[in-house]
Amino acid sequence: MFHLFKQKKSFLSERLPLLRGKVIENAPLAKMTWINVGGNAELLFEPADEHDLACLISQHLNIPITLIGAGSNLIIRDGGIPGIVVHLGKNFATCTVEGDTLSCGSSLLLIELSKIAQKAGLSGFEFLSGIPGSVGGAIRMNAGAYKKEMKDILQSIRLINSNGQIQTIPIDEEFFRYRETLLPKDWIFLGATFKGTPSDPEEIQKTMCSYKEQREKNQPFGVKTCGSTFKNPEGLQAWRLIEKAHCRGLKIGGAQVSEKHCNFLINTGKATSSDIEALGEEIRKRVFKECGINLEWEVKRIGIPRLKEGESC
Ligand SMILES: Cc1cc2nc3c(=O)[nH]c(=O)nc-3n(C[C@H](O)[C@H](O)[C@H](O)COP(=O)(O)OP(=O)(O)OC[C@H]3O[C@@H](n4cnc5c(N)ncnc54)[C@H](O)[C@@H]3O)c2cc1C
Repeated sequence: MFHLFKQKKSFLSERLPLLRGKVIENAPLAKMTWINVGGNAELLFEPADEHDLACLISQHLNIPITLIGAGSNLIIRDGGIPGIVVHLGKNFATCTVEGDTLSCGSSLLLIELSKIAQKAGLSGFEFLSGIPGSVGGAIRMNAGAYKKEMKDILQSIRLINSNGQIQTIPIDEEFFRYRETLLPKDWIFLGATFKGTPSDPEEIQKTMCSYKEQREKNQPFGVKTCGSTFKNPEGLQAWRLIEKAHCRGLKIGGAQVSEKHCNFLINTGKATSSDIEALGEEIRKRVFKECGINLEWEVKRIGIPRLKEGESC
């Protein structure tokens, strides 16, 4: 696959308009994800600002564009990602507080957002304090914990649509479902405003600490993982089904089902994306056989599998 990217590389770069941000060909992506697996981006683009990004999108280049946030809910396949991978860098990690409203850029980490809200004496953001994603990725996933979701605190989203137009839209509950948004897949979220509830910063801190304790007790820490692999089926818990299907600790290659929380898959060191994906599919097969339930992937799997010798795409 790298060979294929190399052949195409100058061709793809040549088609780009003049951009001010960082453009890297054949860029390694594994280290940009929490689970640390996967191939390269044919071309990685970190826009200088939203107008730089709009400049690219408005060209209608007919090249696939893939967004990567903090990479905490992503398995990038071993053959990498063809086309352009967009990563919003530090320039998009802004945050301002005005009264009970926080306005943030998309690459701001949720952990930072919850700290800023705590210091400003605004509650409602505590549930984000242990989720390692960015604002943009969390909007796409409607991330949540402790019975709260992004949709509960979002006021508006600033985005670039598929024509490269920048717009701000108010939030409607109907845009969101459990761990997904129904907003067009090709919209790129640039930032968002959130509303908090004025509260005592110490009380907010206490809640955040109790959430941290709960996570440390129930989830594996300091490991390479994507968090919960499968969505909870209506009224059920994925981890209970996985346990019932005797998958706790199950291994394929360098991938393992966490002993501590069996909805977490772990890269024990040398896992490939195919190990992780094969382990996930094995779990789905066993859970279906044991419980008659089809588990749905929560983690996004993107890119293409590594090509075997002699194969072409
Ligand atoms: C240890 C651990 C614990 C976790 N705990 C939780 C939890 O409690 N609750 C929970 O909901 N999740 C949890 N997660 C999963 C993950 O943190 C969330 O899904 C998070 O919202 C993903 O954000 P991200 O920036 O990492 O997105 P990524 O993983 O980079 O991307 C996720 C999706 O969002 C899209 N995307 C990213 N940025 C943008 C953008 N700017 N515009 C448009 N689309 C974009 C990507 O294309 C992809 O489809 C956990 C993960 C880990 C590793």
